[in-house]
Amino acid sequence: MFDIIVVGGGPAGMTAGLYGLRNGKSVLLLEKHGFGGQITYSPKVENWPGTVQMSGNEFADALLDQVMAQGAEVDLAEVLKIEDRGSVKAVYTDDGKVHEAKTVIIATGVKHRMLGLPGENELVGEGISFCAVCDGDFYTGKTVCVAGGGNSALQEAILLSGKCAKVIMLQDLQEFTGEKKLQDILFARENVEKRTGVRITALNTEGGELKSVTVEPQAGGEQETVGCDGLFVAIGLIPENEAFRNLADLNAWGYFDSDEGCCTKTPGVFTAGDCRSKSVRQLTTAAGDGAVAALAACRYIDQQL
Ligand SMILES: Cc1cc2nc3c(=O)[nH]c(=O)nc-3n(C[C@H](O)[C@H](O)[C@H](O)COP(=O)(O)OP(=O)(O)OC[C@H]3O[C@@H](n4cnc5c(N)ncnc54)[C@H](O)[C@@H]3O)c2cc1C
Repeated sequence: MFDIIVVGGGPAGMTAGLYGLRNGKSVLLLEKHGFGGQITYSPKVENWPGTVQMSGNEFADALLDQVMAQGAEVDLAEVLKIEDRGSVKAVYTDDGKVHEAKTVIIATGVKHRMLGLPGENELVGEGISFCAVCDGDFYTGKTVCVAGGGNSALQEAILLSGKCAKVIMLQDLQEFTGEKKLQDILFARENVEKRTGVRITALNTEGGELKSVTVEPQAGGEQETVGCDGLFVAIGLIPENEAFRNLADLNAWGYFDSDEGCCTKTPGVFTAGDCRSKSVRQLTTAAGDGAVAALAACRYIDQQL
């Protein structure tokens, strides 16, 4: 039996593993796709403290090496179910195995909702971004489009309008749905344009670089080509927490409701990173959560002795 099983091998999960191991606990790290999580989509990370610039893959590889060097067991498998048997948690994976641990840390992250257009995946990090804080600087003095009309899209656009020559908002509904205060700030800026009631139907590239998007009125009518150097997609995040709602309450948006100590309603089950309710989803906050959750798990184990 392991002391700690971590579900999800992103920055939060791997940091949790690191802190558990450094406290003398045995750790199994389970990841369904590839270790590193969302950051592996980013070619340039420039806001990890202490490192001027690196790629997301470099960050992920270094963190995985560090966790392995501390003695983590790792497995590529999807966790389908976790059963709370009191002092033992049973973790079921898609390869038919059942792993047992004294504690579980769920760090399953989020998926960004995509537009579902051809070529979109290939352009992520190369013209398509989900994060103005992370990637906004790459578009300084350039023209960008922002897809979406809620608070996230408005906040992304406010940040971008301070750096970019032009920001064009593309909203599929007739109205922007984010707070009026944010709309007032954004649309008072001279370098911001808006198109409502339009959907993006194509991503147009030249030499592999995004050059424009095609938009079409929802009500039908003529297509328009909107030139841009980048497209920020802010049409929502999808947490993948449904399978674990027996252990941890979910809020209205599907995120784990956990306190500052990363605890859940189930003793011995903790949660960390983008999958939990929080206001900032970044590498720094994911790593911070990982450390907090792991130390809480260690304390829980030690108290059971
Ligand atoms: C394109 C892009 C660029 C970004 N750039 C930056 C940046 O420059 N700076 C910055 O600070 N932040 C950046 N971010 C945000 C940052 O990547 C996230 O905040 C961070 O990765 C969150 O870490 P996490 O471990 O909580 O979740 P994730 O990174 O989402 O990792 C969760 C992991 O859990 C796995 N998983 C999910 N369900 C299961 C399951 N049932 N069983 C097993 N495994 C499972 C997933 O496959 C995934 O690998 C960027 C994000 C994107 C998408």
